[in-house]
Amino acid sequence: MNFSVDEKGFYGNFGGAFIPEMLYSNVEELKNNYLEIINSDEFQNEFKQLLKDYVGRPTPLYLSERLSDKYNCKIYLKREDLCHTGAHKINNTIGQILLAKQLGKTRIIAETGAGQHGVATATVCALMGLECVIYMGEVDIERQAPNVSRMKMLGAKVCPATSGSKTLKDATNEAIRDWINHPENTYYIIGSVVGPHPYPDMVARLQSVISGEIKIQLKEKEGRENPDYLIACVGGGSNAAGLYFNYLEENSVKLIAVEAAGKGIDSGKSAATSVLGKPGIIHGSKTLLMQTEDGQITEPYSISAGLDYPGVGPLHAHLSETGRAEFYAITDEEAMNAAMELAQWDGIIPAIESSHALAVLHKIQFKKDDIVVLNLSGRGDKDLQTYIKYFDL
Ligand SMILES: *Cc1c(COP(=O)(O)O)cnc(C)c1O
Repeated sequence: MNFSVDEKGFYGNFGGAFIPEMLYSNVEELKNNYLEIINSDEFQNEFKQLLKDYVGRPTPLYLSERLSDKYNCKIYLKREDLCHTGAHKINNTIGQILLAKQLGKTRIIAETGAGQHGVATATVCALMGLECVIYMGEVDIERQAPNVSRMKMLGAKVCPATSGSKTLKDATNEAIRDWINHPENTYYIIGSVVGPHPYPDMVARLQSVISGEIKIQLKEKEGRENPDYLIACVGGGSNAAGLYFNYLEENSVKLIAVEAAGKGIDSGKSAATSVLGKPGIIHGSKTLLMQTEDGQITEPYSISAGLDYPGVGPLHAHLSETGRAEFYAITDEEAMNAAMELAQWDGIIPAIESSHALAVLHKIQFKKDDIVVLNLSGRGDKDLQTYIKYFDL
């Protein structure tokens, strides 16, 4: 099986670039240049230096003794929660802003749902001194006030999207409209392995630093590069793609992808795309997405804002269709309980997104000598209000 993108941007049946005519030249420019830029020594040196000195990489690979005891195997946590700004998203935004500079762009746009990608983008724009405009649904601006304040403090302009449901997909439409109107000077930073080709492949490559580090760290700790299991939560799929990237062709490594079941798969309040999704086109690529009979995108739901997305990236649709990755769906309740367990057992308060990955440990029958690496994609500071309300803390 092949898990790299083909010339047209497809992973098997999924991917491609379904974009309006007006965006063709922007996307073409990116497609023709991204690999050469990313693979150049100049880019790699600057990227690695910033990941080290600014983000704090490599992130630790931490053996949790207590989780290991409980689940009767060896469980390592890849500590993306310790990255600057609190999650893996910054790996991608650092990479894309360097690329934007190489392409001579002076203005950055992005869309954000919960605000995490907006903050990661505003952060790197401040770092590089570039103008930053973030589109965000009006409803999300209200729900995610602290992140809006962060973006403003970092010097970004936050533009409300006031059409439709006033959430992420409407913000995306606004961002695309902006890009069409400013094709010369503007670069669009997408926050996950979604969007038209080459974004999914580009973002996966930038996040692949995660599995690159794990290979070295596991070799050091266990004498072998390959774990038996890799586990990650999937919203759009970027932290999972980074975790899997260097192991996709290693068939002995089982890939576990965890989606948000919300209040339950059949409850009508869910974001479990691999179960509920059908092939369709969203954000310029063909992938699995949750939609009505007549193809209208269904509003997703999860207690975790980062998993509250109606699609998955095309790589993940392919991993699901081919069976290379095994997909699980975890409810709000299961995720919240897993968060409490990690907090009280290991002294780590995880992001609710990452807690979905933790909750899957209950559902897999491990063997004693199995080595499991779970990507702890982010920290829980941003979720404190949700934890307080849920557990009445
Ligand atoms: C945004 C986010 C996610 C989901 O995004 P992916 O692209 O699927 O990784 C997961 N965890 C955290 C902490 C996030 O902020």
